[in-house]
Amino acid sequence: MDTRKRKISILGSTGSIGTQALEVIEKLQDKFEIIALAGGNNSELLKQQAEKFQPKFICATCQPDDLKGKHNAKILQGSEGLEEICSNKENDIILVAVSGKIGLKPTLTAIKNGIDIALANKETLVMAGDIVMQKAKEASVNIIPVDSEHCAIHQCIKDISQVEKLIITASGGPFLRKSIDEMKNGTVTEALAHPRWNMGRKITVDSATLMNKGLEIIEAHHLFNMPYEKIEVVIHPQSIIHSAIEYVDGSVIAQIGLPSMHIPIQYAITYPERYEGIKSKSFSFSEIARLDFEEPNYEKFPTLKLAYQAGTEGGSATVCLNAANEEAVFAFLDNKIKLFDIYTITEKIMAQHNIIKSPSIDEIFAIDKEIRIKTQELIKQF
Ligand code: MG
Repeated sequence: MDTRKRKISILGSTGSIGTQALEVIEKLQDKFEIIALAGGNNSELLKQQAEKFQPKFICATCQPDDLKGKHNAKILQGSEGLEEICSNKENDIILVAVSGKIGLKPTLTAIKNGIDIALANKETLVMAGDIVMQKAKEASVNIIPVDSEHCAIHQCIKDISQVEKLIITASGGPFLRKSIDEMKNGTVTEALAHPRWNMGRKITVDSATLMNKGLEIIEAHHLFNMPYEKIEVVIHPQSIIHSAIEYVDGSVIAQIGLPSMHIPIQYAITYPERYEGIKSKSFSFSEIARLDFEEPNYEKFPTLKLAYQAGTEGGSATVCLNAANEEAVFAFLDNKIKLFDIYTITEKIMAQHNIIKSPSIDEIFAIDKEIRIKTQELIKQF
């Protein structure tokens, strides 16, 4: 067992995953030393975190003066600050928990520097999965998924060559038992009322349309090098089975547990060790009583099909999917469009997109920008 303290940095420490990661680290104080904490513009929370955990560096987008407090951390700023953190070879592992495309470049920098990644940022793989996984392989860097489904699969897989298919579970979100019309006219409040998971706003809307699951099949494809036809989605409303794999001999291995993000976060940052950590109670099958499963309704949730399509097309198609969807989700959260318009808009933008086969990182960012502008234009017509 590794007794040395693991040196960790957290990108996105003030977000949903970041704050929960710090709860895990607080419980496992003797196992971790925090090198850097990077937050967005929530300077007050980042300052509190710096005072409590005393990292060597903090980084944010706000004014450096707002971060001064009872800590000795060097104050870094913006994306340059993230680059500096990810170039610091003192780190054993970096938890990438920022949301959006901002996660991609720091992740690549960390990989280049041989630092393991606990990855909670979906965009990194959806936008540039081919490049990221190739670079990680070349640098012998571990990419440990934090997303509960991929964390589950990571825990189930021993030998990937013997896997017949991946079975990714989805809670179905708040519209699972609602009619198609209710879903189409869903309000922001309804979309944000996720029955099982407490997450950020963008991902919660993605869970309501099942786009989150769509992005997850793309993540799974890259993480486990699995063709799309071998990645299956099943609706499982209780969110107790976090995902499963079927081996060629018909054996199915599933990872089961209470729906708490503390578990996958802790797994990812302590891998391959396991500790009691933040575990609140022991699992009981009899308390769960029953587990239900059903096929996804593609008429109600066509975004899922769109994601399979983008993934299968490959290249820049997933960059387009991600950018169009994200802009549409922001417009929905601003009450500019209806919930179902997220699909309609994303589908239209994807149909117009000329796919580039193997885009470079610069091309990926250029396509992302172009698609966002086009999507914003289209949104005006709604
Ligand atoms: Mg997930």
